[in-house]
Formats: sequence, structure tokens, C-alpha cells
Amino acid sequence: MIVLTGGDLVLPDRILANGSLVIDAGRIAAIEPSPRVDPGGATIVDVGDGYIVPGFIDVHVHGVEGFDTLDAGDPIAAIASRLPRYGVTAFCPTSVACGPVALAAMLAHVSRSRAARPSGSARVLAAHLESNFINPEYRGAQPAECLRRPPGPAEAGHYVREGNSVRDGEFVREVDFSAREILDVIAAARPDVGIVTLAPELPGGVDLVRALTAAGHRVSLGHSGATLDEAMAAIDAGARHATHLFNRMTPLTHRAPGIAAAVLAREEVAVEIICDGYHVHPVVARIAVAAKGPARVMAITDGTAGSGIAPGSTARLGGRRIRVTDSAAVLDDGTLAGSTLTMDRAFRTVVTALGLSVVDAAIVCATTPARELGLAGLGVLAPGCVADLVVLDRGFRVRGTFIAGEQVYRGGVAA
Ligand SMILES: [Zn+2]
Repeated sequence: MIVLTGGDLVLPDRILANGSLVIDAGRIAAIEPSPRVDPGGATIVDVGDGYIVPGFIDVHVHGVEGFDTLDAGDPIAAIASRLPRYGVTAFCPTSVACGPVALAAMLAHVSRSRAARPSGSARVLAAHLESNFINPEYRGAQPAECLRRPPGPAEAGHYVREGNSVRDGEFVREVDFSAREILDVIAAARPDVGIVTLAPELPGGVDLVRALTAAGHRVSLGHSGATLDEAMAAIDAGARHATHLFNRMTPLTHRAPGIAAAVLAREEVAVEIICDGYHVHPVVARIAVAAKGPARVMAITDGTAGSGIAPGSTARLGGRRIRVTDSAAVLDDGTLAGSTLTMDRAFRTVVTALGLSVVDAAIVCATTPARELGLAGLGVLAPGCVADLVVLDRGFRVRGTFIAGEQVYRGGVAA
């Protein structure tokens, strides 16, 4: 039994100053209103002056510290082992549009990592696919040659696989594959595919929303030029998530509200926001949180392999080179290619730049993503819940990360 004492406990509805949190068998056994003095057989850990918050859950992250989810080797395990130092206790490994072989390989790694979590690593959740079914006009850094239209009902069968790939360094770039092959890979890996981002305005897009929702996936609207009506139709068909609100979608204007307004207006949709203060201006992010409420917003990093490494370094995103700048990651041609954000900095930005309370910051960084993904017992500090939590100092830097009650990261050195 471990008792964390001192510090401010960030509960779902308030801050409990100077309380104690009792961990037993990987769960939160009790939350006590005062500092524990008598150990009563437990190990007392004085967290000092800081906050104890639920572990961060990032539903959109491509990589960190030089590792990309689509790399050769076992990048998912490498990413999972590195994220706890940023306060992340669970994450959805996220892909960019790629060929069926690369996608199947990544999903196999996801499956293995979900089946057994090595001590010290963050929990691997079902993957988030920034899929092949996005609008080329809004693709951002996604490779145009990998984008496909949703298959019509008549289209079936496989393309001949011979000669359909080119080697690009470590990465095998597939060039000749069908939409149906991608859907076959998704179907074969069904429980390991959580979120699928797509553009509903593509021909057959709304039917694809319906089919993926029926198969148990969570459809997210994004990389899309959908009008308000097209987005509304997709939500009617089952879409419940929006991918990096405002980035790579039709802008919200007062006469042509577009997809951004649809996902803001519809209560059943929860929205991701890249909280680096750069991808979305803090004032606009704050407006979005005010419009939706923290319970409908998920702070994400959209972090790449360029996260956690020095500006000027290079890394990869889906096999392509990206460069780390002071504010984000970019392709060689300067296209914005995701962020270099980490969840500790997202939390800090939400409080210091957006002006949310620490309680609301914990909701958007942990509670809402857990609820939206149906992760019972995660994302809140409450008796009976899983003891996944982060100790932050007053500057919101990570001093310690606990997963299932085990301290897996300690102030600057892995525990
Ligand atoms: Zn992304």
C-alpha cells in the first residue's frame, strides 16, 4: 500500500488541498481529507508542493523522441516506454494514410502491446487511423498517393500485389492498393482499431461512416472540406469525434459555418484540440472549450517523432522526413506536419494560455478522453479507480508518473 500525501489532489469537481491518496493493488483505495501522519503499514510518499492529477490520455499521437508509429521495428513499444515522462499513462497510437502492409504491421504491434504492458510503459489503446479516406484538398502532411475514395458497394477483390511498393530508406512505400484492401485490414484487426478519421463529403463517405460505426469503430470527422450539411449528415450516421478541430477543415465563418460549426454545435460529438498554442490560437481554443464544455473536449498533442527532440533535428512521419522547428514539425516543403507537443506542455498551455482551471485542465487531458473511449476506471481520481496518475510541480512540470499504482517515472530519470 502506498499513500501519496501533501500537494493538491485534483478531483473531478474540485481541488482537495493537502489530502492523501491511498493506493492499494493498483487502484485508488481511498481519498482522505488530511495528510496521512500514521503510515499504518503503508509506504508514505510526500509529494510536496504540487498537484496530483489523473494520468494524461492522448488520443492522437504519431510518435515521440524519434519514433514514428509506422517505422520498421517495434515503434509502438518504444513510444509507450517514453511517454510516461510526459505524464501520459495511456495513448492511441496514430497512423497517417499508408498502404495495407504498413497498416497491418502497425496494427499487429498495437495488438501485441495491448495484450501485455511492460512495466514502465504507458497503456497502449486501440489505434487511431488518420485514414486513407480523407479529402486530398485538406490532406496537410498526409501522402497524396495513399488517399483513396471509399469503395462503392460493387467494388471488391484485391489488386495484384506484385510490384506495388517502392523502398524508401527503412520504409516500404506502397503505391498500388485499393480502398477495399485497407478496409479488409481494418476488419481483420477490428478490436485494435479505435478511432478512424475520415472526410464524410467524399463519394460514399457517409455510407462508410455508417459501416465503420456498425463495426464498432469510433468515426472521427477530419481532414475534410465538408459543408455544415455534409457534416451534420455524417453525425446523423454515427460520427462522434472530430479530429484536431479547426486544423485541416473548412474554417468557421458566420455565413458558411462548415464542419467546425457542426461538431461544435452537436452535443454528441467530442472534439480534439491540439493544445500547443500554435495550431489553434489560445483564444480560439478557449472559445471552443466554452462552447462545448470541458466534458466534450479532448486536449491532444498530434505529436510526431519530432516531439521531445531538439529544434533543427529531423525525424519521420509515415516514412517521410520531417524537420523540427521552434513551433511544430514540418515537411521538407514547409507543410505543417503535426506538432512537437507533449501532454505535459499541453496541460500547461491549457492552464496558462487558455486560462482554464486546473480541474478543467485535468478533464480535457484525462477525463474526457477516458469517457469517450469507454475506459472504465481511468481518467479520474476517485476511490475504486485505477491508480494512473501524475504528480506535477507548481509550474506543471512532471515530477512523477504512476501507472496501476507503480511509479514508472521520477523527476528526470525513469524509475
Ligand atoms: Zn495527426
